[in-house]
Amino acid sequence: MEVQSGQMVRERISGARSADTETPPSPAILAVTPLGGVGEVGKNFTLVEFGGKTLIIDCGLRFPNVAEHPGIDLIIPDFSYLLSVKDGVQGLLLTHGHEDHIGALAFLLREMPLNVYGTRYTLALAKGRVQEMGLSDRVRWNEIAPGGRLSLGPFALRFFSVCHSVCDGIGVAVGTPLGTIVHSGDFKFDADPVDGRRLDRETLRQLGEEGVLALLSDSTNVERPGWTPGERSVRPALERALATAKGRVFLTSFASHVHRFQQVLEAAQATGRVVCALGRSMEGNMRLARELGYLKVPDGILVDLATLQRLPPNRGVVVSTGSQGEPRSGLARLADGSHTDMKVCPGDLLVYAARAIPGNERTIGALINNFYRRGAEVITEREELVHVSGHGSREDGREMLRLLKPRYFLPAHGELRHPATHRRLAYEEGMPQERVFLLESGQRWAFDGQRAAADLFVSAGEVLVDGLAMDETDSLVLRDRQHLREDGIVICSVGLSSRDGEVLQGPHLLAKGLMAPDLESLLEAAGAQVHAVLSEQAAYGRAPDWDQARDMCTTTLKRFFKKKLQARPVIVPAVLEI
Ligand SMILES: [Zn+2]
Ligand SMILES: [Zn+2]
Repeated sequence: MEVQSGQMVRERISGARSADTETPPSPAILAVTPLGGVGEVGKNFTLVEFGGKTLIIDCGLRFPNVAEHPGIDLIIPDFSYLLSVKDGVQGLLLTHGHEDHIGALAFLLREMPLNVYGTRYTLALAKGRVQEMGLSDRVRWNEIAPGGRLSLGPFALRFFSVCHSVCDGIGVAVGTPLGTIVHSGDFKFDADPVDGRRLDRETLRQLGEEGVLALLSDSTNVERPGWTPGERSVRPALERALATAKGRVFLTSFASHVHRFQQVLEAAQATGRVVCALGRSMEGNMRLARELGYLKVPDGILVDLATLQRLPPNRGVVVSTGSQGEPRSGLARLADGSHTDMKVCPGDLLVYAARAIPGNERTIGALINNFYRRGAEVITEREELVHVSGHGSREDGREMLRLLKPRYFLPAHGELRHPATHRRLAYEEGMPQERVFLLESGQRWAFDGQRAAADLFVSAGEVLVDGLAMDETDSLVLRDRQHLREDGIVICSVGLSSRDGEVLQGPHLLAKGLMAPDLESLLEAAGAQVHAVLSEQAAYGRAPDWDQARDMCTTTLKRFFKKKLQARPVIVPAVLEI
């Protein structure tokens, strides 16, 4: 078991085809290639290529499922294709500050320096991780504004504001000599947004009139009928919760959901409570949003922990991250009673103002159960309207199509079922089948001025990152972790004579986490087999080959446990020289 730091692990996305090409499209072809984010939720990363030049849109990460990738903290896109065309890269545009759009930026900067474009809040969030990793000298930040325009090589960009669950989100129209590509970003239409900043319907209408060649549009929620409710619609339920809770109110949502916290602050003011941000990331985000003017804090409402503790419980609200059950978050520690500064008490209330990212449901279930166990009540969106999505539903998607009237449609952002549902919506809107492309990560959509096709794949794997070490982890380590979890570990220590390899000590076997009906006698039998194999070698009377001896221990034990238990514990041979 060896961690080889600095080595990247590339794993093909299941279901994706292997690469047909690693060469860039011919300069006369306009190509759009999502290298992540379609057919999966997360790691959005799209290339637009024309005339030998490349524009990157977003560079996000995906949070792994613990069962699939034990011990892995992040999954980032495979940059190998991009690096092969890096001389033509004109810049990277970030549509908004969610991790699935900015989270892999620092990793890309390690590979190449970049000009990065984004709105003020998006850049503020993106800078955090880049500074943490000491990569600030690899990037030039360029602030853009919704409504603004920018030329980058052959690409004429025009930005439009969208509504989403983070401030300052945009979509972009990329004008090229062969036509305009529109990337919606993550969006919903919100008639009365908390910050008054609506989705820029007028620009979309103009673009539609001028003619849109292709539209990439957010598919996340198109399975839901109707329109996604506006962010303000959660306000009454929040206020009711704060008004009626007997004790403290704990509220969790994503740290970047400034509009949600704006409403919590206002609801607190209306109900005579004060608010405290728990944990470093929540405090940091609140401070940032306040400094940049995105969060308006009523006087005296935001307090520190010590102040909150001095007040009666029914005067306090605690906002916290950890809505996905992240084990190290303050919320998880409150739930299991291990938080050093605060306890959940009977009469308290947890307002779960978020939705589970698929794969996290069980962890979140446990978190909620633990709040109940401590005597608290819990409200989720199932009981009360305390959460609305930032992604548009079917009618939002339809409106986007109607405004832009694209010639080609490339539904994006979501597991395959989501773009597939979005495709049906486009058919409903009268788009002919041959103009709708259901792409997967790595699939290149190409337009030559006449016709479009999407029959080539470039490599689009994923890279697993062990975020604690900030080093990429070897696939062997992953396999070991899987085996450790399932069958535990067996350590075999044996002492051999350095003269002729005779077994002088042991073998002694120690097992942890291995399930067997009569473990002790099983280990004895295993040890006897190792002894027999090593003794056979010793019979040659030569000084032992230590590597070979270790291999023999491992192979013998692997076979033994496979045969007896159908198990694959991790084998650690410790061969001592005597
Ligand atoms: Zn988003
Ligand atoms: Zn997203």
